[in-house]
Amino acid sequence: MSGLTEEQRARAEANKAAALARRAALAAQIPPLRDDVTSEIAPQRLRRLNFERVDPRGRYVLLWVQSAQRAMHNEALEYAVQRANEHDLPLVAVFGSTAGFPHANERHLAFMYRGLIELRETLETSRGIQLLAYTPEGGGEPGEVIVAASAGAKEVVVDAGYTRPLRDWRRRVAKGVNRLVTEVECDVVVPLYGPGGGAGRSEPAAATLRPKILSRMPALTRHELQPTSLRRRVLTGAAAEALLLGGEGDVGMAGFARVPLWDSVDACLDALDAAVLGAGVDRSVKPADGYHVGGEREALRKLDHFLATKLNDYARSRNDPSLRLQSHLSPHIHYGQISVVYVAHRARKVAAARPELRRSVDVFLDELVVRRELAINYCLNNPNYDAYEGVPDWARRTLADHSTDPRLFVYTLEQFERCATHDALWNAAQRELVISGKQHNYLRMYWAKKILEWSADPREAWRWAIHLNNKYSLDGRDPSSYTGVGWCWGLHDREFPESAVTGTVRRMSEAGMRSKFNAGVSNYLSRWGEGDGRYRAGKRSAAKAAAESVAGTPGNGTPRAESRQTRLEEMFSKKPKMAGNGG
Ligand SMILES: Cc1cc2nc3c(=O)[nH]c(=O)nc-3n(C[C@H](O)[C@H](O)[C@H](O)COP(=O)(O)OP(=O)(O)OC[C@H]3O[C@@H](n4cnc5c(N)ncnc54)[C@H](O)[C@@H]3O)c2cc1C
Repeated sequence: MSGLTEEQRARAEANKAAALARRAALAAQIPPLRDDVTSEIAPQRLRRLNFERVDPRGRYVLLWVQSAQRAMHNEALEYAVQRANEHDLPLVAVFGSTAGFPHANERHLAFMYRGLIELRETLETSRGIQLLAYTPEGGGEPGEVIVAASAGAKEVVVDAGYTRPLRDWRRRVAKGVNRLVTEVECDVVVPLYGPGGGAGRSEPAAATLRPKILSRMPALTRHELQPTSLRRRVLTGAAAEALLLGGEGDVGMAGFARVPLWDSVDACLDALDAAVLGAGVDRSVKPADGYHVGGEREALRKLDHFLATKLNDYARSRNDPSLRLQSHLSPHIHYGQISVVYVAHRARKVAAARPELRRSVDVFLDELVVRRELAINYCLNNPNYDAYEGVPDWARRTLADHSTDPRLFVYTLEQFERCATHDALWNAAQRELVISGKQHNYLRMYWAKKILEWSADPREAWRWAIHLNNKYSLDGRDPSSYTGVGWCWGLHDREFPESAVTGTVRRMSEAGMRSKFNAGVSNYLSRWGEGDGRYRAGKRSAAKAAAESVAGTPGNGTPRAESRQTRLEEMFSKKPKMAGNGG
C-alpha cells in the first residue's frame, strides 16, 4: 500500500475487515454440506413390471400410492417426481380404495385413512402433488382404479408389496395398463428383486439372512432421501381430476366413486360403504385411536421419542412386559407411513454419536431389518406362507404325532376371542390386543403358543391365531403376521426336548417369563388383567392425560383421555365371527 496516506491505509484496512466479517456472517447462514443426504434412487430398487413403453401422448405421470403411504423418504414418490420432471409433465397420485381387503375392518381402515388424509394435505401444500382416492362402484379391487386412471398417463410408478394380494394387484395392473409400469422397492432396506436380493432364494432362518443383510446395511442406509422439487405443480384436486378425465376418447373415471381424502376419516369410510350399498366396511372392530393414531407425523414423533428415551434400555429390558420399551412403529411400518430405511439410518446415526447405545441399536436393527426382512423373504418365496402347510415339515409331523394327547385345557375360538380362558396372563394379552390394537412383543409369543397348547387341533389353532392377530392387531395382515404366528409353530426355529401336545416345538410358560421379569408380569397383569383395560391403563395423572390429549400425541400404547375405544363388553355385544378362511 505504498503511496497511500495514513488515513487511506486505515480506511482500506477497515474495508477489508468489514468484507471478511460479511463473508463469515454469510458462511454461517449457509448450512454445511451434508454428505449423508441424497436425492438419487438406487437402480437396484427399480423393476419394470411390464414390457410397455412410455406413452408419447401421455399428459401426466401416474403414481399409484399403495404400500408406501408417506410424503417423506419415499423412493416411489421421488422416482415418480423425477420421471415427471424428465417429461416436463405434472404428477398425479392415486390411491385405489377398497373395504374388501381380507380381514380389513373399521380399526385398520380408520388408522390408514387418517394417514392418507394427512398425506393428501402434505403433498398438496408442500409438493404441488394431488392425491386422489377412488373406489370401484359395486365393489372391486384397487387395481381397477389404477387401470382407469392410467388412461392418459405417460407412465405409471408404484411402490412394492410382498404379500400375495398386493403382488396380484400389481401383476394385474401391469397387464391391464398399456404403458410402462415401474415398481420401486421402498419398504425394505435390502431390495428383494435387485442383484443379491432375496427373491427366489428362501432363507431358512435369521442366522442365514443376517450376514447378507448386515454386510449391505451401512451402504444402503447411509443417506437420508431428500425430496426432489416437482416442476409442473398441480394446485387443486379438481385440476388433477381434470387431467385424469381430459383425454379424447378417454372413458375417464366412470364407475369409480371419489373417496373424500379432503374430509374426515368417517366421511371416507362412509364413501366406501356407499359404493357397495352399505356392505363395505366391517364395523365389528372399533378404532383404537385412543392408543395408536395413524399418520406420518405420528410415526416420526414415535421414532424421535423412541430414539431419545427408550433406546437406553432396549437391548437389556425390551422384553419386560411392564416397561413398554418398544418403538410401537409396526402399525406405521405396515401402512408405509414411515420408511424403514430412514428408521435404520436414524438409529445408526445415534449409535455413531453415542457408542454406549450401540448394543441397543444393533438389537433394534436386528428386529427392524433382519427379522422383518426374513418375514418378507418367507412370504415371497413360500407359496404356502398363509396356510398351515407353511409350518415346517418337522413341526407339522411332531404336532400330528401329539394331536391325540390329552390337553389340560381346550377352548373354542369364541372363548379365546372373549378373553375367557382359565389363565389371567393369557386373557390380559388378549385384552390388550382387543382394546389397544397391539400387543407387547413378548406376550405376543406367549399368547400364540398357548393357543396351540389349548386347542384340540394344531391346524385349527394356527388358523385361529392368524385370524385373531389379523382381525385385531393394527399391524396385522403383514408378512410378519405369518412369520410371527409361524414361529410359535416352529417356523425359523429349531427342535426342543419333546413334551406332550406340542411335541418338539418350543414351549413358553408363565413361570419361565416370571423367572426373568417377575415384577414385569405382575405389573402387566395389573394393567391389562381382569376388568376394564381402558380404566386400568388410564391410571395416569389427569394432567398428563389432558396434555397428551391436547397435543394429540399419545401413541405409546397409553390411552388418550377422549379415546373412542369401546370397552370389552361393547366390543363383543354381538357373537364374534371368523372372517374369511384365515388361510
Ligand atoms: C404371534 C406373533 C404375531 C405377530 N404378528 C405381527 C404382525 O401382525 N405384524 C407385525 O408387524 N409384527 C408381528 N409380529 C412381530 C413382532 O411382535 C412385532 O413386529 C412387534 O411387536 C412390533 O412392535 P414394535 O414396533 O413396538 O416393536 P419394536 O421392538 O420397536 O421393533 C421395531 C420393528 O422391528 C420389527 N420387528 C420387531 N420384532 C419383529 C419380529 N419378531 N418379526 C418381524 N419384525 C419384527 C417391526 O417392524 C417393528 O416395528 C408378531 C410376532 C408374534 C410372536
